Amino acid sequence: MRRVYLDHNATTPLASEVFEAMCPYFLEDYGNASSIHAYGQRARAAVEEARVEVARLINADPAEIVFTSGGTEGDNTAVLGVAEAAETPSGTKHVVTTAIEHPAVLYAARALEERGVRVTYARVDAGGAVDRGEIARAIQPDTVLISVMYANNEIATLQPIAEIGRLARERGIPFHSDTVQAAGKVAIDVRELGVDLLTLSAHKICGPKGVGAMFIRKGTRLRPLLHGGHHERDRRPGTENVPGVVGLGVAARLARERLAEDAARVGALRDRLEAGLLDAVPLVRVNGDRTRRLPTTTNLRFEHVDGEALVIALDLAGLACSTGAACSSGSLEPSHVLAAMGLRREEARSSVRFSLGRSTRGEDIAFALEVVPRVVERLRSISPRYGKEEGVTAENAENTEKNTPIEGTPELTPRPLRALR
Ligand code: PLP
Repeated sequence: MRRVYLDHNATTPLASEVFEAMCPYFLEDYGNASSIHAYGQRARAAVEEARVEVARLINADPAEIVFTSGGTEGDNTAVLGVAEAAETPSGTKHVVTTAIEHPAVLYAARALEERGVRVTYARVDAGGAVDRGEIARAIQPDTVLISVMYANNEIATLQPIAEIGRLARERGIPFHSDTVQAAGKVAIDVRELGVDLLTLSAHKICGPKGVGAMFIRKGTRLRPLLHGGHHERDRRPGTENVPGVVGLGVAARLARERLAEDAARVGALRDRLEAGLLDAVPLVRVNGDRTRRLPTTTNLRFEHVDGEALVIALDLAGLACSTGAACSSGSLEPSHVLAAMGLRREEARSSVRFSLGRSTRGEDIAFALEVVPRVVERLRSISPRYGKEEGVTAENAENTEKNTPIEGTPELTPRPLRALR
């Protein structure tokens, strides 16, 4: 059976170059990078080479790169580590983030709230964008951290990170950005963005799972999440995951070298998929800002179709996609991102994300364009409402290119802990 993978925002296949570069560090050069003998020295050299590659991807100094176990650890380290290290004259602390962050930031912020830190979750507009003014209004005299993601994992909207970076600089507030989805897909220059901390993850850029990196600008005060040895300049104790770090280094180099080519090619495929579905399927809308987003992703709302049912039916037909974040799959609650954009419950629940990557080919898009309209039509034909209400038949339906204003109250704060998981 033919299988096509359009869920690259959940994870990506390992690039063969990455796999080959990692292999020797499992079987031959298996030394501990902290050991002083030849085995250790070879492992250390490989870790440092990878550090240079990660630094080059984001225009940082290698000394500002810290290896982690992935995006979740990086986000937690930034949010908890900066807030806990901060001191304010009043002794109180406040953090600004947004309502559409990944759970790795939202739950870290929630953990801070439980420890008495106040958190403001800035609202986003109907396209999923946060504006500088909203962040500026949220700042308080005891604000110790601003954390805003660069690209959202569900709708791919890009946030004005450089503008927020300037604001943070003016106010002297440390600024973190979760760039797990943006890194390797859009150019990132930490100097231009004005970030003090940044998080990235290898498995989103054709690298291995369970390894990532943080940029921590020199001089940033941070309390490490873990306690142990003096690894990673005392920022992150624990024996380095040498094969994983090597894989991340190669993945970062490939992402840098192929960034422009990948973005243009994958962006054209995404546009073909999106235009084709808007054309072939009645009552479909695009969620999120279509002008400022990653070139890899389209998040579509198929009215009168349950998103979860569509994902399952498409999987049975050979097409892998997702209703949103992989980590909240199976949750009965609609996406907190779509809710924050003002979508009604049914609208959010009828949304599906298609995310492309370097391995996506034209024939994969042709397959999706053949399968999706057929499956949507079948699901609608068994829907009790579709075709039986005024205004919801294929004949009189017209797809609008633009997102229409959406009713409903934006969800400004994350839902209770369990609901988001
Ligand atoms: N941040 C964002 C925006 C993500 O999309 C993800 C993964 O889905 C993470 C953080 C967590 O990264 P990891 O899977 O490496 O823990």
